Amino acid sequence: MTADGTLIGYADGRYEVPDNPVIGCLAGDGIGPDIWAATRPVLDAAVEIAYGGRRRLAWRPLAAGEAAYTDTGSYLPEETLAALAECRVSIKGPLATPVGGGIRSLNVALRHHFDLYACIRPVRYYEGVPNPMKRPDLLDVVIFRENTEDVYAGIEWESDSVEANRVIDFLRTKLGATIREHSGIGIKPMSPLGCKRLVRRAIQYALDNGCRVVTLVHKGNIMKFTEGAFRQWGYEVAAAEFGDRVITEDEVYRDHGGEIPAGKVMINDRIADAIFQQLLLRPAEYDVLAAPNLNGDYLSDACAAQVGGLGMAPGANVGDGVAIFEATHGTAPKYAGLDRVNPGSLILSGKMLLDFLGWRDAGTLVETALQRAIAAKQVTYDLARQMEGATEISCSAFGARIIAAMKE
Ligand code: NAP
Repeated sequence: MTADGTLIGYADGRYEVPDNPVIGCLAGDGIGPDIWAATRPVLDAAVEIAYGGRRRLAWRPLAAGEAAYTDTGSYLPEETLAALAECRVSIKGPLATPVGGGIRSLNVALRHHFDLYACIRPVRYYEGVPNPMKRPDLLDVVIFRENTEDVYAGIEWESDSVEANRVIDFLRTKLGATIREHSGIGIKPMSPLGCKRLVRRAIQYALDNGCRVVTLVHKGNIMKFTEGAFRQWGYEVAAAEFGDRVITEDEVYRDHGGEIPAGKVMINDRIADAIFQQLLLRPAEYDVLAAPNLNGDYLSDACAAQVGGLGMAPGANVGDGVAIFEATHGTAPKYAGLDRVNPGSLILSGKMLLDFLGWRDAGTLVETALQRAIAAKQVTYDLARQMEGATEISCSAFGARIIAAMKE
């Protein structure tokens, strides 16, 4: 496999991005090829317009999912894994979960293989998108969800299995725990390493992007040694590694009359159930949210719903040295190959990718143009069916409309 570009480097925790980086691209299954075909020209156009030929994305197409299985007998060929590692930065469409045994989910497999510990989901409102709120524009947050630990680690045993009964027996006899017979058992591991690296990334993002607040979301009032520890380790990493660039909410109120001093990021924390209320009632007070796996999962979908649903929600799974940007929805198989669905989620994931490379002018162009296309009410079926006076256009036409809007 060759691509007419230069590989991205990685040293001392920083990506070294050439002007023609090789970017891995996995079109994915179902509607994946449709939305990727619409997305790629949008990203190329934004880079061309922003940098006038000085910069260029060198795409390296990679195989995974059903097409790869047909060709190679593997849903996630070794060659693809090696290329993802080599490219370091990639973008992917949705992948179908193989039916039957073997891999539980290709997405989970990718996250585990590359230790992509931070799931990053920005959530903001685009004028004109149908939504259930009075003021959807007040929500503008980026959620950092821990991706590798918590009850999602997949350590669980079925009711009445030998393993579950063994664990129950151990907990009862050795640790004095009371557990009902026939219980299924799940384990919730949360480590200082896992929690701190996630919070570290969230704080660094806030500092790099001029955000004012990082909120640690947890259920530590009940689960003290996992969720409570997440909160504690979060404050520890803030104090130890970001020193005078951060300030706690207590200090802001005690020493600064409730005003965050210029140039500082405020660290606070909220209990998980309270944050769901707060984001509905006082969304403007939140900025960057860092959460353990399960709460982060719920929170990102709830926030996406506030601004109009998952159809346009972008995402990234990021580790140390590898980052994969992805549409957050699934393969919607009934629409596969119809050139009909909304490519917005993948296009906005591409915008995140451009920002991640440090190519912010191009990223902003993508976002602004997408906003213009929506404001012009020329949109795909999913938005058109809820917008009064909208014209329904195809997936590829929506991409072309966004490119046209870059030149308006
Ligand atoms: P889905 O593929 O997200 O589709 C559910 C519905 O969401 C669609 O029928 C459609 O609604 C709407 N939708 C999704 N993407 C859209 C788009 N781009 N534009 C417009 N509407 C869109 O969920 P699913 O049917 O539960 O999952 C199908 C497969 O995808 C499964 O194999 C699952 O494992 C996989 N999956 C993959 C990922 C991933 O790769 N990250 C994520 C989730 C699921 P309407 O019918 O109302 O138009």
